[in-house]
Amino acid sequence: RQTIKDLLADYKKVLHHDITVQGWVRAFRSNRFIALNDGSTINNLQVVVDFENFDEETIKKINTASSLKVVGEVVESQGAGQTVEIIAKKIIILGDNFFDELQSTILQPKKHSLEKLREQAHLRFRTNVFGAVFRIRHAVSFAIHSFFNQNQFFYINTPIITGADAEGAGEMFGVTNFDLNNMPKTEEGDIDFAQDFFGKKTNLTVSGQLEGETAAMGLGRIYTFGPTFRAENSNTTRHLAEFWMIEPEVAFNNLEDNIDLAEDFLKFVIKYVLDNCKDDLEFLDKRFEEEQKSKPEKERAKEGLIEKLENVIAKRFKRVSYTEAIEILLNSKENKKGKFQYPVEKWGTDLQSEHERFLVEKHFESPVVLFDYPKEIKAFYMKLNDDNKTVAAMDVLFPGIGEIIGGSEREARLDVLKTKMAEMHVDEEELWWYMDTRRFGSVPHAGFGLGLERLVLFVTGMTNIRDVIPFPRTPKNAEF
Ligand code: ATP
Ligand code: MG
Ligand code: MG
Ligand code: MG
Repeated sequence: RQTIKDLLADYKKVLHHDITVQGWVRAFRSNRFIALNDGSTINNLQVVVDFENFDEETIKKINTASSLKVVGEVVESQGAGQTVEIIAKKIIILGDNFFDELQSTILQPKKHSLEKLREQAHLRFRTNVFGAVFRIRHAVSFAIHSFFNQNQFFYINTPIITGADAEGAGEMFGVTNFDLNNMPKTEEGDIDFAQDFFGKKTNLTVSGQLEGETAAMGLGRIYTFGPTFRAENSNTTRHLAEFWMIEPEVAFNNLEDNIDLAEDFLKFVIKYVLDNCKDDLEFLDKRFEEEQKSKPEKERAKEGLIEKLENVIAKRFKRVSYTEAIEILLNSKENKKGKFQYPVEKWGTDLQSEHERFLVEKHFESPVVLFDYPKEIKAFYMKLNDDNKTVAAMDVLFPGIGEIIGGSEREARLDVLKTKMAEMHVDEEELWWYMDTRRFGSVPHAGFGLGLERLVLFVTGMTNIRDVIPFPRTPKNAEF
């Protein structure tokens, strides 16, 4: 069976032959021209319905969203807009399509807002925008595996239920087994939800890094690619409670190797999408252009979507220390004139996404890699630098996004790690297994975390993270 994508790409092989296609009706013009789509591509196949061959009853039953199987002859199209079409000889309606109910759904052919589409996330796969976005999301995932495979990394699955809070940020969802007859109790006799993984306290993973490090300490180069959960009770356009994270970890790498890896990796994936998702990108590029037109002139993007992607892979990312970045921010007229929601006051403060975006979009006009952050604002496992004040951390910042990757060289020295953990109140005993990586043949190593959805946001030009994951999980959205 051929997809519509295959057929459109290679129709000459079947020109003037009868073929069978199946799909959903995207539009039905003048009771004669059906735009049929099977999800394989953004492009529809035009099916021409010849009145002479079909009774009025059949034709009346076909409307937008109908599912059809069509047998017909492949011909070169006389009309504008497509090179090929099929002249229907037989049309089978595959399933019911309730016309009245359809009217209140997003399948009804008119322009719907993204918010409205989000409310019916289970139906938005049938729209052009979400078809394009999810095909590209697939391509991004595929390219990620491909990059690591080509570079001799092994794909490791780390646990989803874990006892570790890798980030020490306390943004965890606990795990409960709901064996209501057998629930652990607190001293007061209440159900103790916190202790309920068969008597142990566990949570959904916030990062696979710590486990990933143990794997890298034997396999050398590994990466994880799995669901990640954070109890982010904030409604930003870049945070989800459930997202997908990619975390490579490499033995014998230092911070600079880690930055090189991150840059090569991002460029590989973006190039893969440019090379393999042309039709979808062109569609989104047009959509992006339209969106820009509705904005005031000075807020408009300087480049189109495809242009933006091409520019990002053409140049080396700017590499800037945290200290330099703070200087730039402190001296910026934005900061002096109070344009930031969170003014930058001194060395040591954590950067907000408005600061990151200022550096990327206004100051450097380039993706930026910031490195050597103050130790107080980063997690315990990062390597302490000789200045005793900063750690070998790095964040990759992208236009329109802010932080897309966070990573570091890890602290490989057991004694230094122990001191840092004590300072930051991280329980050494709970992480006894992690400490073993520093006890038996410790080596320098480094890695990073990329949020899949942030990268998909960037390559699709979408602006809300809820629109690049099939079923967004946010504080206000947990239905499907
Ligand atoms: P942010 O500063 O944006 O909250 P973070 O520093 O807390 O991110 P890390 O712990 O460094 O995030 O996680 C690594 C990567 O995972 C981030 O660079 C980002 O791409 C992604 N990420 C983190 N939190 C989320 C989230 N809630 N939803 C989607 N992606 C996320
Ligand atoms: Mg965060
Ligand atoms: Mg951050
Ligand atoms: Mg981070």
